[in-house]
Amino acid sequence: MLFLATCSWAPAFSMKASSRVARVWLRGGATTTMQATATNPLQDFQALPRFDTISSADVKPALEAVLSNLDTEFGALEDKLSKDGGEVQYADVMEALEKIEAPVEYSWGVVGHLMGVADSDELRAAHMEMQPKVVQTTSKLSQSGAVFGAVKKIVDSGAAGLDEAQMRILTSSLQSMQLSGVALDAEKKEEFNANKLKLAELSTRFSNHVLDATKAFSLLISDKAQVEGLPASALALAADRAKADGEAEATAEAGPWKLGLDMPSYLPSMKFVKDRAVREQLYRAFVTRAGEENAPLIKQILTLKQQQAALLGYESYADVSIQRKMADSVGAVDELTEMLRAKALPAAEKELDELTTFANEKGFDGGALELWDLPFWSERLSEERFGFEEEELRPYFALPSVLDGLFGLCNRLFGVNVVPADGEAEVWHKDVRYFKVLDAQSDEMLASFFLDPYARPENKRGGAWMGVCLGRSAVLARKPVAYLTCNGSPPVDGKPSLMTFNEVTTLFHEAGHGLQHMLTKVPHAPAAGINGVEWDAVELPSQFMENFCYDAATIYGTGMAKHYETGEPLPRELFDKLCEQKTFQAGLGMLRQLYFGSLDMELHAQYDPSGDETPFDVQKRVASRFTVLPPLEEDRFLCAFGHIFAGGYSAGYYSYKWAEVLSADAFAAFEEAGLDDEDKVREVGKRFRDTVLALGGGRHPSDVYRDFRGRDPSPDALLRHSGLL
Ligand code: ZN
Repeated sequence: MLFLATCSWAPAFSMKASSRVARVWLRGGATTTMQATATNPLQDFQALPRFDTISSADVKPALEAVLSNLDTEFGALEDKLSKDGGEVQYADVMEALEKIEAPVEYSWGVVGHLMGVADSDELRAAHMEMQPKVVQTTSKLSQSGAVFGAVKKIVDSGAAGLDEAQMRILTSSLQSMQLSGVALDAEKKEEFNANKLKLAELSTRFSNHVLDATKAFSLLISDKAQVEGLPASALALAADRAKADGEAEATAEAGPWKLGLDMPSYLPSMKFVKDRAVREQLYRAFVTRAGEENAPLIKQILTLKQQQAALLGYESYADVSIQRKMADSVGAVDELTEMLRAKALPAAEKELDELTTFANEKGFDGGALELWDLPFWSERLSEERFGFEEEELRPYFALPSVLDGLFGLCNRLFGVNVVPADGEAEVWHKDVRYFKVLDAQSDEMLASFFLDPYARPENKRGGAWMGVCLGRSAVLARKPVAYLTCNGSPPVDGKPSLMTFNEVTTLFHEAGHGLQHMLTKVPHAPAAGINGVEWDAVELPSQFMENFCYDAATIYGTGMAKHYETGEPLPRELFDKLCEQKTFQAGLGMLRQLYFGSLDMELHAQYDPSGDETPFDVQKRVASRFTVLPPLEEDRFLCAFGHIFAGGYSAGYYSYKWAEVLSADAFAAFEEAGLDDEDKVREVGKRFRDTVLALGGGRHPSDVYRDFRGRDPSPDALLRHSGLL
């Protein structure tokens, strides 16, 4: 999967990084002491967010109100806990906190969500203004000596009568509070908090710069020869974009066409545009995006993270990060990386040789391939080897049928029915849909979700992610609600959205995250769904779901792949080739992910930002071991590497590979049981639902995995699926 097409399921809001418990995501509230008087829609915690009425002007008053209320309530809780000489119960601390925190998490969560899907200058300004106050408040929560002492007291007393999830919430909280600086002396704490504030602001600026730079660049082309090779769908999109930009006469056939750096525009250009100079121009723009703006920010971010680690008594930020991971140590990550690199590198070298030979046979006279030639010639080689073009698949993957397939699969595997409920919830854009998830046996409504399927480069962040609207909580009497956000091809020319296969797998991926959020059985918010799940384990359900896009029973049994006009199913030989194609250039693909992961780890484990070396020098050094074609001298891809500089993946990008080992091995359980055996599939599916999807962060991920698989994970399935064994 390509960088940025991968999921960044947790948008970079400050709440999560600084929260008191393991990971209190942006869950919202249903019941609070404030609800009765709230006229500001951002304070209306009773139900789903009122997207029709929420405006940027609501942000400041809402946040000021909920933060002030939180101050009062939290102060009262601290007083009570400090005075309380006797026994303290779980509910006195953890459940009280759930209630107190819910309003702020709700308001701030909705704001963060809107920043990602309906950005505007006013919203950004309001977010920027309120962010420091939110960060200060969450710091206060995570550094409360009274809460820390009370939690410790419960744990030390043996915590009789608590379930496993509650115990894990308590020990996680202690660890999390320690990593949030609860034990620091006053002077150090002040420095720690000031750094945290700066980090939150820097990561928001980083992210905005990437969005701005992506939007700022475009190529307006009037010469048809320069877009030769582009498929009809990409031409239509490019003409639509030109039209929106004032070229009233633009048509797909005659142009002009506007090419950009957002994925639905950039990817087809790199794969199909024959004009090498156009590709080169796009490529150079892409890998230098936000270079000047973000280069200084990267250094500041790394410096601040280094300082935070030192204040907490760790040698590096990577050591801090690994405390909250399934992996035992940075060494364990390096070991897996090296093991996979040893398999991937020789394969990648061979793949590049093959590609060069092929290109030269087909009239490429440039000798060695350049970076902007790789996607183009890879696509040609793939077409020749597999006999189809990616574009041929699109008519068979219309979004409505793909959704039928996805929901059919959810029914087979997990015994749930997904039903449309459009109109029952307000949405932030007319293309957004709303669905309910019901238990197939009891018909009980378990959860619901929003789906925002299409790219809107003008105000929506790229990539795809699952976000939490509301989290499950018994105390707040709340069922889970998810946001599934994709950046797929919008409908053009009156046709339905015809998806690339990559967009299909991305949708399944995000649905996997959504299912873990929605099918949780844990009633305690801090460990429900994805809350409290270690980062390197959290991509397990998502990557697991992608496997079913290559499963015949799913593709054919559910009618998900049928021609949008004729209704004929995807030809079987096309499907077989699609499966063969899965291992196409698997070495190059794996090497690229290992490169990103290793670079991220090196920057956070060893790099000294105060030395002479720049982060780009480190990139060059790491690239020499993990790429077969070195990056350009001016490559600044780090300046758009939002996962690690604006998201939560710092010293954690390896998590994708780590979890891929888990997800491939989990899918192998279905292969071993027999994917054609419907009873077995349902049986293993139920076990997956009851373990991985149900237990959330309430149990250590290694134990959850053993519950499902009966043994520890093995990397063999991943290597086998990738054709690298
Ligand atoms: Zn993901």
